Amino acid sequence: MANESPRYDAIVIGAGHNGLIAAAYLAKGGKRVLVLERRDIIGGAAVTEEAFPGYNLSTCSYVCNLLLPEVIADLDLVRHGYAIRPFDPTYFCPFPDGSYFMAHLDGKKTRQQIAKFSKKDVAAYDAYWAMWDRILARMQPLLRRAAPSLSDIERAFDGPQGLDDWKTLTQRSIAEVLDYYFESEQIKAPLCTGGVIGVNAGPMTPGTAYVKFHHLIGKVNGVQGAWGFVTGGMGSVSNAIATSAKESGVEILTNAEVAEIEISNGRASSVRLTDGRRFSASTILSNADPQRTYLQMIGAGALPDDFVDGVQRIRHKGSVVKVLLGLGELPDFTALPGKTIGPQHTGGITINPSVEYLETAWDECKRGQPSSKPFMDCYIQTATEDGLAPPGKHTLSLFVQYAPYDLAEGSWDDRRDQIGQTIINTLADYAPNLPSAIEHMQVLGPPDIERIIGITGGNIFHGEIMPDQMFGNRPVPGYSGYESPVEGLFLCGSGAWPGGAVFGAPGRNCALAVLGELDA
Ligand SMILES: Cc1cc2nc3c(=O)[nH]c(=O)nc-3n(C[C@H](O)[C@H](O)[C@H](O)COP(=O)(O)OP(=O)(O)OC[C@H]3O[C@@H](n4cnc5c(N)ncnc54)[C@H](O)[C@@H]3O)c2cc1C
Repeated sequence: MANESPRYDAIVIGAGHNGLIAAAYLAKGGKRVLVLERRDIIGGAAVTEEAFPGYNLSTCSYVCNLLLPEVIADLDLVRHGYAIRPFDPTYFCPFPDGSYFMAHLDGKKTRQQIAKFSKKDVAAYDAYWAMWDRILARMQPLLRRAAPSLSDIERAFDGPQGLDDWKTLTQRSIAEVLDYYFESEQIKAPLCTGGVIGVNAGPMTPGTAYVKFHHLIGKVNGVQGAWGFVTGGMGSVSNAIATSAKESGVEILTNAEVAEIEISNGRASSVRLTDGRRFSASTILSNADPQRTYLQMIGAGALPDDFVDGVQRIRHKGSVVKVLLGLGELPDFTALPGKTIGPQHTGGITINPSVEYLETAWDECKRGQPSSKPFMDCYIQTATEDGLAPPGKHTLSLFVQYAPYDLAEGSWDDRRDQIGQTIINTLADYAPNLPSAIEHMQVLGPPDIERIIGITGGNIFHGEIMPDQMFGNRPVPGYSGYESPVEGLFLCGSGAWPGGAVFGAPGRNCALAVLGELDA
């Protein structure tokens, strides 16, 4: 073979955080590992980029909760520069009538806020959390292994309230769960948003309680379900992992897009890049999404029909819009006025005044229309960190739902600016100075996420994390232990169990499976 380099033990296609984690674990296990990344930077959807001159923003993922503590410890990420701080308030949710709800890391302060709206809901808050704590305890071990079988699940959900917990996790909508515990709309509104992140579903869609669970998996500084800012933005997570991987001997090549995974004697044996270079290895791991890995890099003809059918049926189209902004001044919220840094700026800002509002936003999306009043999850990282924007300026990151990949009318290129304007107008309902504060703006819809990050369909999790696409169905029934129909080829990205987010579980689990050290 011309241009063939020395044989590696393992090649990892893609330097997203999962690919890098897999590579690092394999290298620690004594393997000679090469990572090939199509972009000129590593990190995939966990990346910090200079969006505008002097403004460094997390292009895609923006806050962190799930990154496995095992990964942080095993790869010594703190020594390699990973630093996270939980933000407080956990969210500030302004309402159109000028009131607001603010949740804090300190449960006592949160209860005082809940009491503004309902005394009954203060007591319900503890019962609500007790339910999640039980489900989290049942599920945590199942996230650190190949997808569990039905009998594993049965064991995990044995005992008092087990059946009800399983029903909550896999069958109930987040709206139904919240209705059971709370009476106040102001409490339910911000809590329901975690049930729809990254999925084509509304808060009333059965199964959205699973999505909520997914967003409670991790801890920051010991607080279950808390989220944090990573110093330097989310690219610092990937950079710390890459530094650790390199220290263990991993080689990383950027500008190296794999066109084809080559099979010889029924085994994945080498990869061919779009520029013609080829690299061979005894094992190949793909951090790319299932469609890209199997339908593009292998091709349907080389795979079993039922497997191809399964991959084609994965719901993988996104409806998330990410808006990156450079601001000349802070948003001045009607519900809590002020343009100097206050608690309304330092944590999460949730724009979703009611469960019905979010359901209506979804109703429009399911008909192919961008939401006319979208939900958004907003963060001003510069309110608690210097160096990310020019002095006196601020970044504002908006994670917005919904705008479908497939628009019923027009194209994304025609409508991107209009969709962005609707988002800004919606936020201006709560912070009227916003439009005049904007100095820079970038709007990324699902096709942009697909083009830039390389995620087919632009789904933030490489396929929705609704319960029917989880457990033994992820990515395809029969292949939920990181293996594929092609011997020597494994899937190590978010499309594998236990799913997406800056989590590291698929990457770690896959590497342990390759090393023969993962429970199945
Ligand atoms: C807009 C947005 C916001 C999000 N917000 C959050 C958040 O705040 N917190 C959170 O935890 N999660 C968030 N997520 C989800 C999370 O970022 C992703 O699920 C996760 O980063 C995916 O990691 P990964 O390593 O599995 O794959 P990716 O990050 O997608 O990495 C895959 C890599 O493979 C490369 N690749 C693909 N094809 C090839 C090829 N042929 N050859 C070589 N390389 C290839 C890609 O370039 C990419 O670098 C968000 C995602 C998006 C898109």
